[in-house]
Amino acid sequence: MPNHPTSPAAKLRAVRGMNDILPDEARKWHRVESVFRSTAELYGYGELRTPIIEDTALFVRQVGETTDVVEKEMYSFERHGDQLTVRPEGTAGAARAYVEHGVAAKEPITRWYYLGPMFRGERPAKGRYRQFYQAGCELYGDPGPVCDAEMIELAMRVLRGLGINALTVHVNSLGSAGTRERYRAALLQHFTPLAAELSEDSRRRLEKNPLRILDSKDPKDRAAAAAAPSILEVLDDADREHFAAVRAALDALHIEHIVDPKLVRGLDYYTRTLFEIKAEAADLGAQSTVCGGGRYDEMVEGLGGPKTPAIGFAMGLERILVAMGADVAATRPASVYVAAMGRPAIAAALEIASGLRSGGIPCEVDARDAKLKSMLKRADASGAAYCLIIGEDELSRGAFTVKDLAARAQWEVARAEVVPFLAGRAGPAASEAPR
Ligand code: ATP
Ligand code: MG
Repeated sequence: MPNHPTSPAAKLRAVRGMNDILPDEARKWHRVESVFRSTAELYGYGELRTPIIEDTALFVRQVGETTDVVEKEMYSFERHGDQLTVRPEGTAGAARAYVEHGVAAKEPITRWYYLGPMFRGERPAKGRYRQFYQAGCELYGDPGPVCDAEMIELAMRVLRGLGINALTVHVNSLGSAGTRERYRAALLQHFTPLAAELSEDSRRRLEKNPLRILDSKDPKDRAAAAAAPSILEVLDDADREHFAAVRAALDALHIEHIVDPKLVRGLDYYTRTLFEIKAEAADLGAQSTVCGGGRYDEMVEGLGGPKTPAIGFAMGLERILVAMGADVAATRPASVYVAAMGRPAIAAALEIASGLRSGGIPCEVDARDAKLKSMLKRADASGAAYCLIIGEDELSRGAFTVKDLAARAQWEVARAEVVPFLAGRAGPAASEAPR
């Protein structure tokens, strides 16, 4: 172990821009994750889990050398002679796995989803973190345009399923390679005379990748970007037709959408269809994009696989949780607080608690041998629905007291009846009700 000098008095804290998620909060996350998973499964997607660390070259080549992500945000390091990066996004790793496992040869169409943490060293703000979670879908083997619209519908179904309804869909087309070459030339012509007004980053990227300037959030670049020519004017016939068909399919799905010809997004791999879903939550401010995605028809081939069209999206779970608002009911299963008084009662409590758990009833044993009053206080604070009181008297009677902590009602229940009695109230079937 290398020696890290630390002052013994210094408090260790979570890394800036990275968050702890405590259990009450995690319950809301479970809800988001389960709606996402079940919706993805509805459309035929299966889960893909890839390593969180990949070769740095994967992101440099696929995400693009002149993107913010690669230029300044990646957590990269060297270990055992390998150059590695903690993934900043999920699409490149998924495509790497698709090629590595020769999936194209096994099935014509592949639908994968993933869910997990991503890492980017950006400036933290509400809805913008250095470790954040994305849920995403990737579809390989279908050039669209219909599946492009269906993918947007999938994302919308997830968001609506979580009660987020104030949403706008923004779409654009980046065309194929030829279109982007023509557009690059048009942008170069537009931005070169304005170079002196641009931000330093944009001036540096002007020659290599003028498209990036359109995505810049620097106020210096905004005016010049707003006046830039539209990519839709340089689309070739096939691209134009593709885009029109995506829009027609969106109409068929009753998904209203706004065409935004300046939408380019922050990663270089996109081709043709590009989209973003924004939530109108006041709390999100500049971080209103809850979902972003698009087509990347050249990536699989670029990774050494066969020519394979592909499309995907990723949603930011922290932003989704903000858009859902504060009143997301964190459902917690009704549970039982087992309060035991005296050693013989503790042994009985352990046995009964074990029986409750076998019956699927969550419970907690208080074996501190404390005073009843203190245990009841703790039972209330624990959020339990019921308190089961086991004392010497109860043991000799062979019947225990069950208290409904919210209704303040109580019953005397024979020892053998305790599990079935509570199963009817707090067991798996009864535990769906929000508390
Ligand atoms: P933005 O323009 O907001 O920086 P992006 O273009 O970098 O987003 P993508 O890389 O396409 O976004 O990621 C898809 C989604 O992941 C975003 O729409 C957002 O919801 C979420 N996301 C991206 N970066 C972060 C971050 N640093 N913190 C939290 N969520 C993020
Ligand atoms: Mg970004």
